[in-house]
Amino acid sequence: MSGDALTEAMYSKRKASRIPARAEKRTAARFYQLKSGHALTGVYLKSTDNRPDDHCWWCDPENISGTQQTRDHLFKHCSRWKDQQTELWARVKEATERAKRKRRVGGLLADERCSPAALDCLWGTYVGRAAPPVEETWNSEGTRPDLYSYRVCRRTGVAST
Ligand SMILES: [Zn+2]
Repeated sequence: MSGDALTEAMYSKRKASRIPARAEKRTAARFYQLKSGHALTGVYLKSTDNRPDDHCWWCDPENISGTQQTRDHLFKHCSRWKDQQTELWARVKEATERAKRKRRVGGLLADERCSPAALDCLWGTYVGRAAPPVEETWNSEGTRPDLYSYRVCRRTGVAST
């Protein structure tokens, strides 16, 4: 997607929802990172030696099932983001007339018709933001760690407490 088209998508979003420009910028940055495959996902962080494995820390925090945190997993299967996925794929189908099962996430991110839906989906999730520290697991009440409270290393994108 060209920068202009993305800016336009963001601009119409801001008019509609009054999301601060700085927050939009961060969402756009995550969008580009996901598109290029360099977002802070389990698979990417493992490939860059920043995590020992690539399991999904949202739906499989103890790494029991060994579910890989890929882009496809995050946008299609991760139980943590079901609501956002449902909305995303309904909008994608409306915009492109292609059903979820027939689409790869890489193709979706490259398709400008899907960008507003993808941006809204990202805005509503922590996908591609910070990874929790490796030793961090969910607390005993079963709530997830507050990823926004972590300091994220600027070089590696990995969070520490
Ligand atoms: Zn997951």
